[in-house]
Amino acid sequence: MKILDGVVCSWLEQHMPASILQIPVGPMANFSYLVVCSVTNKAVLIDVGWDAKKLYDEIVRRGLSFEAVLLTHTHFDHVKALPELLKRSYVPVWVHASEQKGVPGKPDLKLIDDGSIIPLGNLKIRCHHTPGHSPGGVCFEVEKHLITGDTLFVDACGRVDLPGSDQQAMQASLRKLAAFPDDTIIYPGHDYGPTPTSTIGDQKRTNYYLREAMGLMSR
Ligand SMILES: [Zn+2]
Repeated sequence: MKILDGVVCSWLEQHMPASILQIPVGPMANFSYLVVCSVTNKAVLIDVGWDAKKLYDEIVRRGLSFEAVLLTHTHFDHVKALPELLKRSYVPVWVHASEQKGVPGKPDLKLIDDGSIIPLGNLKIRCHHTPGHSPGGVCFEVEKHLITGDTLFVDACGRVDLPGSDQQAMQASLRKLAAFPDDTIIYPGHDYGPTPTSTIGDQKRTNYYLREAMGLMSR
């Protein structure tokens, strides 16, 4: 973590073209993410619940080409700033097919499902359907990075007591995420844990919910 012009962020290059900027937004400890192909300077925003101006200014200030918005799901704290953002730049919005009705405004929707690939410059962003918190919950994988929305938090997981939630589906989704390589870096939808990011390997050691889904919490 470092401070860049007042924005707390984690800026990881790792000699690969994908860079991930973690941007805290709003009053509910949400994170938005700016994913950049550092070869082509093309960028997408993932989840835009709050602070449209702050998010858009970050793109402009870095001289990036804004290509699209990707949504991990459509709860209000992940989509509320979308109409204001699209007024500044009308880019396509990618969302899981089962949550298209939850997208506010009149966006140019692109529907995704498990395994869909979203191109971004030299990068490919792979979609993983992870229902449980919501029916169309999606995680986005790019290189070693996994943006996990409200499916997997650092040392916790998303609520499963909301309309559209499904505890069994959440357990299956957590098992799916546990199968990623241990060095996969996770980027959650909220800053609820002891650190803003973690890895699948660390979460398999410290995350009760992930361990329980894996059958590691035998009594
Ligand atoms: Zn949510």
